[in-house]
Amino acid sequence: MSLLKDKKGLIMGVANERSIAWGISKKLANEGAELAFTYVGESLKKRVIPLADSLGSKLTIDCNVENEQQIKDTFENIKQKWGNIDFVVHSVAFSDKSELSGEYLGTSRHNFLNSMLISCFSFTEVAREAADLMKKGGSLLTLTYESTRVIPNYNVMGVCKSALETSTKYLARDLGKKGIRVNAISAGPIKTLAASAIGDAKFLYKWNEDHSLLKRNVNIEDVGNSALYLLSDLAAGVTGEIHYVDAGYNKVGMPDPKNIS
Ligand code: NAD
Repeated sequence: MSLLKDKKGLIMGVANERSIAWGISKKLANEGAELAFTYVGESLKKRVIPLADSLGSKLTIDCNVENEQQIKDTFENIKQKWGNIDFVVHSVAFSDKSELSGEYLGTSRHNFLNSMLISCFSFTEVAREAADLMKKGGSLLTLTYESTRVIPNYNVMGVCKSALETSTKYLARDLGKKGIRVNAISAGPIKTLAASAIGDAKFLYKWNEDHSLLKRNVNIEDVGNSALYLLSDLAAGVTGEIHYVDAGYNKVGMPDPKNIS
């Protein structure tokens, strides 16, 4: 079975082999997709190029989403090479580490705006550029984490994820008439570079493992499989969805008292 035969897509957000975007990329390539990758700056280029090569990708592009022109140039580059695109994975987030611990109340104006730009608004700009290259429809996917409840230390990123999830729904409305689907995966905690910036991350992994319905944490392969579904025609009738891949943790109202030590 080749669910993504003849499909071309852009992956934004591989930093290393532990990245969620990398787990997704492997699944998509395995189902026949041709992939392009973005990276941020020279140090990540050295990590991303060998990974992209290993999946047969011929297109890697430097794109810092803080820079609007770099987003436009990325899609111009894709237009020149491919003419059209079928899907985009937006797996990008950033906040100053010093504001991912302690109280949300202390969030600075600068970091609030920068975190929102990188972690939320970039998805809207990416969607706008990508939609121009999706003349026959397409699929956009972003990555989110708990936005409906309060998580210690997640602070400004939780606020960004709320806005990102709402953006997903508005983009799904705007682009639905063009046959472009827009969805988000809300993943449970996974040990990655970005997650390690969150205060008490080890406690977060342990808590989710102990109290999720499946009594385990998810991994980048779990997220990759769900991304494959959402990006392929298997999910042709699905848009504006926040799809939880968190071992059922979001359904827990209260941990089992027997599991509290
Ligand atoms: P990661 O560190 O591997 O990936 C984050 C990516 O964001 C990196 O590739 C980094 O280069 C990119 N990035 C940061 N600033 C950027 C900028 N200015 N321009 C372009 N790219 C930039 O970590 P990850 O956990 O794989 O994170 C991917 C996504 O998944 C993020 O949106 C994250 O919030 C989300 N997520 C992570 C978890 C988790 O527990 N790891 C859970 C749910 C959702």
